[in-house]
Amino acid sequence: MAQLDDLLEELVTANRILASQGIVDSFGHVTVRHPDNPKRYFMSRGRAPERVEIGDIMEFTLEGDPVDARGRKPYLERFIHGAAYEMRPDVMAVVHNHSPGVIPFGVTGKKMRPIMHMCATIGHEVPIWDQHKKFGDTNLLVESMAAGRDLAKTLGKGRTALMRGHGCIVVGPYLRATIYTSVYLELNAKLQMQAEAMGKVRFLTKGETEKVAATTTPANVNRAWENWCRKADRPYKE
Ligand SMILES: [Zn+2]
Repeated sequence: MAQLDDLLEELVTANRILASQGIVDSFGHVTVRHPDNPKRYFMSRGRAPERVEIGDIMEFTLEGDPVDARGRKPYLERFIHGAAYEMRPDVMAVVHNHSPGVIPFGVTGKKMRPIMHMCATIGHEVPIWDQHKKFGDTNLLVESMAAGRDLAKTLGKGRTALMRGHGCIVVGPYLRATIYTSVYLELNAKLQMQAEAMGKVRFLTKGETEKVAATTTPANVNRAWENWCRKADRPYKE
């Protein structure tokens, strides 16, 4: 139980860090899979991530039904998360955000690729999901499991996918690594736009990307996590 309590506190911290790092504004969300029940995940009630507190954390089935809502109103787009957990047993945490740098890549079809070593965990090529292809004119939100599953299909085996005219999804093997990749996806977008304005870019090769990603250890991630905890005014636990 104590371990679960720690994980839920970490989920609160993850919300605050995403806000403090400018990855989410008043919108966007992060979830973590239940460590003892792979068919459940945890997520805040619908609230700006910067304001999330422990009492906001709710448990959901993979289909997005709250287990014990107690009057709390969930996020509309929770299906993004459940569908990713359903398709990918290896995924333990999911972030959905609208970080500004990724938007131009989603609408131009310009492929995002890792531009420097810190960004390797975004994957060699970031796919783009266009909801319009299957669902026609929508409000762009992911409000059903059908849309969530279609997005998960585009994500495939990767860690990231862009959503046309909307934002992105980032998944990972544990919560801290997923936040780490979310931060560096945004940085990659900014740097790639700058570099491409200067000329032809020599990106990391597929092999380089895989080597860097394979050597991005929890110790690396924790160095960033500790720093980000302090900046977000949250306690750091190793
Ligand atoms: Zn969204």
